[in-house]
Amino acid sequence: MPDRTAVPVVPDPRMLIGDERPAVAGDRRIRVTSPIDGRHLTDVADASPQQVRDAITAAESAFAAWRRTSGLERARLMHRLADLIERDADDLALLETTDNGKLLRETASQARFAARNYRFFAGLADKIYGRTIPLDAWDTFDYTRREPVGVAALITAWNSPMQLLANKLAPALAAGCTVVVKPSEIAPLTTLRLADLVAEAGFPPGVVNIVTGGREAGVALTTDPRLGRISFTGSVPTGQAIARAAADTLVPVTLELGGKSANIVFADADLDRAVPGAVAGIFAAGGQTCIAGSRLLVEDRVADEMVGRIAEIARGIVVGDPRDAATQMGPVASEAQRTRILSMVDAAARDGATLVAGGTDVPASALPGGSYLAPTVFTDVDPASPLARDEVFGPVLAITRFSGEEEAIALANGTEYGLAAGVWTRDVARAHRVARELVAGTVWVNTYRYSAAQAPFGGVKKSGYGRERGIEAIDEYLRTKNVLVDLSDEVRDPFTIKS
Ligand code: NAD
Repeated sequence: MPDRTAVPVVPDPRMLIGDERPAVAGDRRIRVTSPIDGRHLTDVADASPQQVRDAITAAESAFAAWRRTSGLERARLMHRLADLIERDADDLALLETTDNGKLLRETASQARFAARNYRFFAGLADKIYGRTIPLDAWDTFDYTRREPVGVAALITAWNSPMQLLANKLAPALAAGCTVVVKPSEIAPLTTLRLADLVAEAGFPPGVVNIVTGGREAGVALTTDPRLGRISFTGSVPTGQAIARAAADTLVPVTLELGGKSANIVFADADLDRAVPGAVAGIFAAGGQTCIAGSRLLVEDRVADEMVGRIAEIARGIVVGDPRDAATQMGPVASEAQRTRILSMVDAAARDGATLVAGGTDVPASALPGGSYLAPTVFTDVDPASPLARDEVFGPVLAITRFSGEEEAIALANGTEYGLAAGVWTRDVARAHRVARELVAGTVWVNTYRYSAAQAPFGGVKKSGYGRERGIEAIDEYLRTKNVLVDLSDEVRDPFTIKS
């Protein structure tokens, strides 16, 4: 566990464009504050569209040589980066916690998970190859090449910057792409710290470029036709705007968007495991995770017991300084988020849901100046109400009862989202049956919020498309070229297509 009393070393706030670190201009800067206590941490650059274009140019220039490096060399650099992340994991964790308010124990494990991801994809870097394909005609040689797509734009959200970036940067580098990274303006600090680590690891200048800024920088980046791939993690409206812009440039897009994931508890489940599983699904990270199990569907027979036990735990959750080892829930990432979540809590009560824990009062243990909320549980939530349909991205659980497997599946699938789901049951056949019917990119059985570098992750429906992590993820950064060689000495008829 990192030392919570340490003061994080705030990184060099300058962007990384090729081998340059341009000074943060006086009139284009963004204040970065800590949601723990509102403290001003630093000012980062609000990149101009020209600076974003410069970063893409730097990535384009570096691609010429980077695409020719061996997979072994790329892997070596990536392992070195993973070593450095592990060396600095405690510092990175403290910095991320200070920047976005997540529990220190969570960011510490995310730093190590990020390193694990770089190692997983380092292992793939020298195993990228095509196929030889026998055609109908004997005198031919046909083969495919798997080639890097070029410059990839990697845009991340504020809730888990280190981990979200590793999900994108690791497969992109392994594939032989160069990148322009843009972290969220709300929590850009660990990504800027990475600029130093990338240089220390020995990556050539221009392979990794980092720009900071908000919407304007994001638009400049995602509308540039020189890109080979855009990989975006964030909200649905921003994802839709990027996909619309990409319709003009025809740059392929990966979208990791929001969720309204269902955690389904059948009456035959081991409730001693399902209760902490449901709590982990929503209150870990204060509900600020795309995979939050924000809808708890409970079978009638055990609903009273589940609601009672979860409400009791929610009331006892220790809210406070996320650097403190005893704290179980820190602040949400910004005051704007807090205000938005509170208005959804108000609306849920007006819509007739029954509040059994939390609500709009600030917890007594909240630090002055911070953006704290109480762990909140509503039961009797109407599946058609906004609380059951819209992503809250905060510590608010919506519980709905069901009767039987069919109703559970219909309720779980009854949203516009499809990121993740949990199934709690002792019946093996039911577990697999329900997993098969759920429309979601990830289904957990008798667990929740379990991440692995090897396991592909991503959404369906409004949760997005494309996959990160797992062997599949590298395909997002590669394209297939087919090469057909005519081995015959035949002089062909120019007016007939050969097949
Ligand atoms: P957001 O959409 O506001 O911002 C995400 C990123 O996009 C930021 O870097 C932002 O600066 C940039 N951006 C903003 N407008 C842009 C534009 N028009 N063009 C290009 N870039 C633009 O999202 P957020 O509030 O930072 O993150 C919360 C959302 O992220 C939630 O909906 C959450 O579910 C989702 N999320 C998804 C995953 C996943 O893997 N599926 C993981 C974490 C978070």
